[in-house]
Amino acid sequence: MFTFVVMERKQFLYTLIGGLGMSTLAGLRKFSGDLPQRSEMAPLLFVGHGSPMNGIESNAFSREWSKKAQSLDRPAAILVISAHWLTKGTRVTAMDQPRTIHDFGGFPQELFDVQYPAPGAPELAAETKEIVKAASIELDHDWGLDHGTWSVLRQMYPDASIPVIQLSIDYGKPAQYHYDLARELASLRKKGVMILGSGNMVHNLRMVAWDKLDVPGFGYDWAQEMHAQFKDKIRLRDHNTLIHYEKMGRAASLAIPTPDHYYPLLYTLGLQEKNEEPKFFNDELVGGSLNMTSVEFLG
Ligand code: ZN
Repeated sequence: MFTFVVMERKQFLYTLIGGLGMSTLAGLRKFSGDLPQRSEMAPLLFVGHGSPMNGIESNAFSREWSKKAQSLDRPAAILVISAHWLTKGTRVTAMDQPRTIHDFGGFPQELFDVQYPAPGAPELAAETKEIVKAASIELDHDWGLDHGTWSVLRQMYPDASIPVIQLSIDYGKPAQYHYDLARELASLRKKGVMILGSGNMVHNLRMVAWDKLDVPGFGYDWAQEMHAQFKDKIRLRDHNTLIHYEKMGRAASLAIPTPDHYYPLLYTLGLQEKNEEPKFFNDELVGGSLNMTSVEFLG
């Protein structure tokens, strides 16, 4: 029976990838049922990424990312939901070697020169597609790693040796959809796949106080209000209120003028296990209308 199931699974996966060859099949085995289940869940993090410059600067935020990585069990692979990959339908990067995408303008050349050559994980992408039933996930060969991903990972894992895939945000879908989809990714954590949501909880670029970027902790009243509220709701595990953020009033509509940077938080909340508690870090407002608040969920 066991052999039959394994054969059936391989045939299914082979069909799925259109016969890309034995090396891919070998890879598929690596991340599918044969990968030993771990007793520990791989890390689950939401990271407030802020400015792309955090990817190359050594500052309080980026040093904390680096410290955080050193405190975590080293994952077998990393799946990132970045605020900067918004698509129609849900996609997952499936190339062997994702390119480094410089999806910003007006920054120093040094930032455009950054490469983060982490390998992809086509086999993990195929497994992700397979386990998610709520959506028909498309395997993607065009995207790569955008700055929501590499600015953080470059500071966490500078050697770029851990395979990384990105899962896109289907921007036409409501908040509840993203929260529910995330739940279906839970089994990946048992196989050593760290899941990282990269965005910002409070994120209003149009209202940034450019003249106060150097004032530590400066936040407008509404930003301070939501900075506190988001954390309270996360601590209370009041996910329902956070999913229906549009009902949280005027301050919330200023903190989330568009939900691109907020949805990655909902993915991590959807993945929070019953025994896991939030631990906040980089818990600061920046430039009046952003916060860098990040969360690790610890069992
Ligand atoms: Zn961003």
